[in-house]
Amino acid sequence: MEQQFDAIVVGAGLAGLRAAIEIGQNARVAVISKVFATRSHSGAAQGGIGAALGNEEEDNWEWHMFDTIKGSDYLGDQDAIETLAKDAPRTIYELEHLGVPFNRTAEGKIAQRAFGGHTSNFGKAAVKRACYAADRTGRVILDTLWEQCLQREIQFFDEFQILSLIVQDGRCCGVIAYELATGKLHTLRSKAVLLATGGAGKIFKTTSNAFASTGDGMALAYQAGAPLEDMEFVQFHPTGIYKLGILISEAARGEGGILRNKDGERFMERYAPTIKDLAPRDMIARCILEEVRAGRGIDGKDYVHLDLTHLGDDVIGTKLSEIIGFAKTYAGVDAKKEPIPVLPTCHYMMGGIAADSDGRVVVDDQNTPFPGLYAAGECACVSVHGANRLGCNALLDTLVFGRRSGMEISRFITKTDLPEPTVNFTANIEKKIADLMASDGQEKVGAIAAEMQEMMMDKVSVFRTADGLKGALAKIGELKDRYRNISVQDKGNCFNRDLLDALELGNMLDLAEVIAMGALYREESRGAHSREDFPQRDDEQFLKHTMVRRTEDGPQIFDKPVTITRFEPKERTY
Ligand SMILES: Cc1cc2nc3c(=O)[nH]c(=O)nc-3n(C[C@H](O)[C@H](O)[C@H](O)COP(=O)(O)OP(=O)(O)OC[C@H]3O[C@@H](n4cnc5c(N)ncnc54)[C@H](O)[C@@H]3O)c2cc1C
Repeated sequence: MEQQFDAIVVGAGLAGLRAAIEIGQNARVAVISKVFATRSHSGAAQGGIGAALGNEEEDNWEWHMFDTIKGSDYLGDQDAIETLAKDAPRTIYELEHLGVPFNRTAEGKIAQRAFGGHTSNFGKAAVKRACYAADRTGRVILDTLWEQCLQREIQFFDEFQILSLIVQDGRCCGVIAYELATGKLHTLRSKAVLLATGGAGKIFKTTSNAFASTGDGMALAYQAGAPLEDMEFVQFHPTGIYKLGILISEAARGEGGILRNKDGERFMERYAPTIKDLAPRDMIARCILEEVRAGRGIDGKDYVHLDLTHLGDDVIGTKLSEIIGFAKTYAGVDAKKEPIPVLPTCHYMMGGIAADSDGRVVVDDQNTPFPGLYAAGECACVSVHGANRLGCNALLDTLVFGRRSGMEISRFITKTDLPEPTVNFTANIEKKIADLMASDGQEKVGAIAAEMQEMMMDKVSVFRTADGLKGALAKIGELKDRYRNISVQDKGNCFNRDLLDALELGNMLDLAEVIAMGALYREESRGAHSREDFPQRDDEQFLKHTMVRRTEDGPQIFDKPVTITRFEPKERTY
């Protein structure tokens, strides 16, 4: 079946919905989501959204800008970061006016709390900058934006999974979507396509991410010739529930929670004397693993404790109730009385589809746009997070750049027509699916996925070495070969998870390869990328973005300069 729109937004998380609201004012826009819209991963965001409102203590956007640059280990583009920090207060008031029920201060202002790496006076002390709704911040924003979309009668294709971009004469003009309930393919044509498909945490064994976070948008853009930027920077959040990786929000430490080793010591005092447990995530994740390596994990095992027992019923009841429930359900721990066992968990992709701050996907180091193709949210690399994202900046990124992409797409679609189709766009995908369904290959999708996830955790997570990364690339090569010989057991057309798992695995293998390649190429330690064989940051050689493009001869790496406007790189201490 074929349909036409002015614009298509792929992804119904915060980035996609915010963009759709913008475009939907004057144009026909469709939002496509492989999960029901309000089940998008944005709804799982707990802790908060950053903005220098100064409601609890003095704050200003320049401090926010500086913290984000320092947090990024000076790899973030400073013009884009300025846009992010400056536009943050407006973004929060807009949400307030749309109906988001933020927590309030006693005098009725939007309440704010501390978050890792956010400081006053350029690093002097922690500052309360994260606006929040208990520990369900993403949930309430997602629901509010979704209601706004319904009110504007924006068309949703829920449980439709895009399998390919339509690219004609170098221009993106639609997508091929697979309808989960029927197995039918749909050709959805449009003047512009925004990818807002979220993260890819499922590449790693232990992750806080939802099942849908398989990086499809990044992989499809890459397969269509767009470069991926800074993919080696993968964030491990310090506090995942031990063994499961389910997130205990940084809000827990923002409200005063403390990390302790087996001796009960508050070890972050040693590593980050000024802001201690509120140091940025890359640092804390490494410190936890250093404690474990030194034999100071709890009972000599590979985890530490997050202690909330001193916070009191009021703070826990009004600000952290959700995570208290998680600790009970998943770790069997009553966090009001006993500490929660935690270990770093794969959480966020700093890298993604190279895009400018108006959401245009760019194809080279000169920022030449890929006509018709846009990206925003976690799947994009604008780059505001550089080598390490600060907590509560991701939700902000989705909304600031979701809106800006929407504005740019609105401009673009008024001055262009939809090209006439020249070929049968679905033929390739139809064949790919038919071949998979008919295959009697011996390899199992689940087994390849498990081996990939385990290997990525082992060799490409917090600490990396050249040997480990070479081994990782060899393993990915082997898994890609085996992937050519998979079969799917379910031959049906109705919610065929087996088939979708197979297609998603293909995407994840491509991304795993790009992550490992970038990590091997970058012979330095910066932000979340920690090379044990190159422990120092090397600005001389590596103060630049890693770009990876797919070519006929395999993935090809090139560089792009970092934009520095106001803050020269300095040593990063907290
Ligand atoms: C547990 C958790 C807690 C977090 N807490 C915070 C926090 O407190 N503060 C903060 O700033 N950040 C937080 N983050 C990070 C932040 O939530 C995410 O980066 C952000 O929500 C991503 O939003 P998004 O719009 O880019 O994508 P998502 O919300 O991930 O949505 C992706 C969308 O793309 C769709 N999609 C994907 N592939 C396809 C396909 N092939 N076809 C069709 N549709 C597709 C999905 O269906 C979904 O609708 C948290 C993340 C996690 C995992």
